[in-house]
Amino acid sequence: MVTLIDTRAPLEGPRHPEKAHRPDTGLLRKPDWIRVRAPGSPVYRETQQIVHENNLVTVCEEAGCPNIGECWSKKHATMMIMGEICTRACAFCNVRTGLPLPLDPAEPENVATAVAKLGLEHVVITSVDRDDLPDGGARHFAEVITAIRRRTPGTTIEILTPDFLRKDGALEIVVAAKPDVFNHNLETVPSKYLKVRPGARYFHSIRLLQRVKELDPTLFTKSGIMVGLGEERNEVLQLMDDLRSADVDFLTIGQYLQPTRKHHAVERFVTPEEFKSYATVARTKGFLLVSSSPLTRSSHHAGEDFAALKAARLAKTS
Ligand code: SF4
Repeated sequence: MVTLIDTRAPLEGPRHPEKAHRPDTGLLRKPDWIRVRAPGSPVYRETQQIVHENNLVTVCEEAGCPNIGECWSKKHATMMIMGEICTRACAFCNVRTGLPLPLDPAEPENVATAVAKLGLEHVVITSVDRDDLPDGGARHFAEVITAIRRRTPGTTIEILTPDFLRKDGALEIVVAAKPDVFNHNLETVPSKYLKVRPGARYFHSIRLLQRVKELDPTLFTKSGIMVGLGEERNEVLQLMDDLRSADVDFLTIGQYLQPTRKHHAVERFVTPEEFKSYATVARTKGFLLVSSSPLTRSSHHAGEDFAALKAARLAKTS
């Protein structure tokens, strides 16, 4: 079993200075369906070595993802670019908050090298929020995509981006680099934004996803939410409608797990049956693909899901 509470000692000062003064939140006992196997297979260790040798940061480690044992044993790691310090301070996220370091110009090539060494057919690239950069890091995203295309042209590329709020022209730069899948997570329903995602705006995120399709209808678009944060079922169904209005293809829904006791509390563990029910409703609303289960994460099984997305689009249009 792995712990889902981060007990890592801070490297330099607290990881979340903005949360340090908060009272500890209560802990709910994890139900049986949340338990996962501890990591440690030989392939897992090989993945770890490649990641660290290339100075890469992964969201798998930074977010304390419960699926790391499974994913890394299949050499599936989600790279997090532009450093490990984020300019936002979301209440659910364990990525360090602060002023980020300058961008590493060697990073696009390092990521491409790691993708080649891991032999990835499909890679997911995400990043911290870089509100400090004039383009929010859009150009760097594009350079990473280009470097991977050059090194391993057969690898399909999925990006999971920040919202590029108040960064005019940034989205256009990323879309022009032609990733195969453009993912931007809504994370939660609008009524929870102020507490859970205070630096973001729900309708900006919806509009971002819609704009991707307007700019390039050949891209697949994807978004995900966490449940168990106190949202109502009707709010989740409304969110599905909002995403469909933006022509989003793929929806992921997973259980929120709190990284530390200073983060937002888990209000409830949603049952596997409720996840199935969300999946059924979402499919009837017209998503090409839906993944809804307690351990669903937006990058979990991303390669298999990409193949399923392509097949679903083909079936719809033929
Ligand atoms: S689900 Fe995503 S973040 Fe979690 S271990 Fe797998 S690839 Fe990494």
